[in-house]
Amino acid sequence: MKIRKTCIVTGGAGFIGSHLCQALLANDCSVYCLDNLLTGNLNNIKSLENDQSFRFYKIDVTKPLDEKLIKDDKIDLIYHLASPASPPQYRRFAIETLLVNSVGTYNMLQLAKKNKARFLLASTSEVYGDPKEHPQKETYFGNVNPVGIRACYDESKRFAEALTMEFNRKNKLAVRIVRIFNTYGPNMQADDGRVISNFITQAISYKPLTVYGSGRQTRSFCYVSDMVSGLIKVMEGEKTNGQIVNLGNPDEIKIIDLANLILKLTGSSSKVVKLNKRLQDDPEKRKPDISLAEKLIAFNPEVSLTEGLKNTIAYFRNL
Ligand code: UDP
Repeated sequence: MKIRKTCIVTGGAGFIGSHLCQALLANDCSVYCLDNLLTGNLNNIKSLENDQSFRFYKIDVTKPLDEKLIKDDKIDLIYHLASPASPPQYRRFAIETLLVNSVGTYNMLQLAKKNKARFLLASTSEVYGDPKEHPQKETYFGNVNPVGIRACYDESKRFAEALTMEFNRKNKLAVRIVRIFNTYGPNMQADDGRVISNFITQAISYKPLTVYGSGRQTRSFCYVSDMVSGLIKVMEGEKTNGQIVNLGNPDEIKIIDLANLILKLTGSSSKVVKLNKRLQDDPEKRKPDISLAEKLIAFNPEVSLTEGLKNTIAYFRNL
């Protein structure tokens, strides 16, 4: 008989979190979705509302959790995704970002310890900073400015990783850390300021596509369904206990080429404009080395950039 697991997803009304909640419900789990809706959105979880196994609580995980909310349930799995994640959002909510990744992570680790639950931290490729190693392997320590404009995100995620590993070492808590590389797809916020949501909304409203800097900087984009299946496999896998694993799609592209690809796929006549580089410390290149994920969980992203962009364009057109 299949054992029904009880999961907490923090940040469950966010972009990746909402897809994760949906996939867990489809896998016959019951899901507590915790989100303070700072950057998450109820629209993302609207389709889940009527599922008996789904409960949403508007909760700030930096505050102590009222455990009455989870009633008599024993929590089996905690996916900790809560945090602003796009550069304009974590700049806007810099202190909240620092706190959710430090205090919020501590609270969720304590809850995992009490429940003897497995804990997965959603970390980020930003822990590598502006990398001097390319592609980035999990063993690379990164090149991060600890007081720079991105530090509220980079450094708090690095702290969250350190804290998670100490709970693993000192308390034998079963933990996994995933470093999520750029991910895109439906449920991204149209105004979150990320490159793919910006370019698509600009293209379909015939506004100029805003390339920051030369456009020669690179990123590697993973479609959200591939990311979510990777997160679940890392959580469920046995070999991943205590491991730090990159997840992403190693298909690397220059930002200027991405702009042109989105123009082609939308059939838009928008122009491309080059603006000043956006943020100090904007990484010049980023591409995950996913050989560890391939080895541990047979991770293999399946959705090509063109296919994923077509789905995402259709989503934005429907908004
Ligand atoms: N970018 C851009 N135009 C935009 C938004 C972003 O050229 O309208 C660039 C940004 O400067 C960065 C890359 O696209 O080099 C990816 O930015 P994003 O905010 O999506 O995420 P990041 O990988 O920097 O966290």
